[in-house]
Amino acid sequence: METRGETEAELRRARDAAEAANAAKTRYLVAVSHEIRSPLNAIYGYAQLLEREGAISPVEAGQVIRRSAEHLTNLAEGLLEIARIESGVLKLRSDIVPLPLFLDHVVDMFQMQAEAKGLTFNYVAKGRLPRLVRTDEKRLRQILINLLSNAIKYTQAGSVTLSVSYRSQVADFEVTDTGIGIEAEDVERIFEPFERGNSPDAKAQPGIGMGLAITRLLARILGGEVFVRSAPGEGSNFQLRLFLPEPNVAPASDPEVSPVTGYAGSSKTVLVIDDNLSQTSVMISLLRPLGFEVFTAAHGAEGLALADLCEPDIVLLDIQMPGLTGWEVADRLRAKHGTALPIVMVSANAHDYRAGGDEGSSHDAFVTKPVDLEALLDVIGRQLGLEWQYGLKELAPGEAGTGPLPGSAGPFFDKLRLLAKTGHVREIETTLAQLAADVPESAPVVALLREHVRNFDLRSLVKVLDHVDLR
Ligand code: ADP
Repeated sequence: METRGETEAELRRARDAAEAANAAKTRYLVAVSHEIRSPLNAIYGYAQLLEREGAISPVEAGQVIRRSAEHLTNLAEGLLEIARIESGVLKLRSDIVPLPLFLDHVVDMFQMQAEAKGLTFNYVAKGRLPRLVRTDEKRLRQILINLLSNAIKYTQAGSVTLSVSYRSQVADFEVTDTGIGIEAEDVERIFEPFERGNSPDAKAQPGIGMGLAITRLLARILGGEVFVRSAPGEGSNFQLRLFLPEPNVAPASDPEVSPVTGYAGSSKTVLVIDDNLSQTSVMISLLRPLGFEVFTAAHGAEGLALADLCEPDIVLLDIQMPGLTGWEVADRLRAKHGTALPIVMVSANAHDYRAGGDEGSSHDAFVTKPVDLEALLDVIGRQLGLEWQYGLKELAPGEAGTGPLPGSAGPFFDKLRLLAKTGHVREIETTLAQLAADVPESAPVVALLREHVRNFDLRSLVKVLDHVDLR
């Protein structure tokens, strides 16, 4: 039993938190109206001057009015963006991003801008970067654009450098400049909405002080953080650390990668609770061929009962259902089975979005409808720690498998199998060249094997070797 003292302390804490939130909201609204007022005043003033014909050149007035309108538009967009992030409505995408290529595009975008200002732009990729990562591409681009455009904006001479390194699913980006730097007392403040640097050099640059606020919020919802190290006159160093997992499911749209056909280990059971029949049948036809046992329930109560009977390894749970909502079902499942039973919420309503997976939450992940099958497999794989198995790439007629190959190809295949085990990619390439030269009929198979070598996909290479027919 809670004592009265404890209850009062709790109430006091809740009241203090509510008051603090209210005060923050008021400060925010004051800042917003201040921000809106200055461009509005400019528009108002210049419009009146225009009305008094001859008081001012229309071109000059037009410029001020246009700039003020742009400022207001940026402000409205920034405010909406912050509101979307903070309310959790922002729908994060789970894109498979070709990281090196993506960064090349970002670099291209800024190289010219920097050079036009007489700055040197450097791009340094430290060590190996994964070919593909999974994240929200647009948001990642937005973060980098904010940091890089600031670096160029607040640097008058010298250089801007973007460097990237990657380790254990985490990417470290650094944007370093030789610009005006930041005063110690501004370092934390500038991440708040509308806060700008106080130095005259900072104020001399146009801006509304929203970029870093959005950058930090975005970085956090993408599973990361932004830090800054800087001193006035000594340039700045912004560090962005982000969780950028390599996808463990081959994207169906990437023709170079073969699709998932199953997973290693014992069969797993999935319980799908959804009142929409077509949704459950999509799940069944996706998951059964991959070796999952799938049970379905059309509403929450049935799902709860079935969970006791079928002992699922994971639950896919719709939110809007007749009777108990998905959230209520999740709470009950969690209360009964604990965190050992992962729960993935599946919803068509972006307003429902809650990432999940944190302490105290009843679900572990969130997938939006219409369900992106790759994203769903990625979530299931991660929740269950599955090791996916990939099938053979479909061969176009005549591309390979054009009938049995001469027995003289046999020794080459034996050697390739051995080399694949030890991972000797160079030797594999040499052996493939010899095979192509000695046994011309093997050209289509060699082409396919080369593709797997290029992707460092030795598992698929071995599968092809196991399937070749010898005369
Ligand atoms: P804005 O640039 O529109 O003012 P930001 O939120 O992007 O808004 O940045 C907030 C403030 O942080 C800037 O006004 C500036 O004082 C400081 N700042 C950001 N990036 C840099 C940088 N690379 N060098 C120096 N100051 C910076």
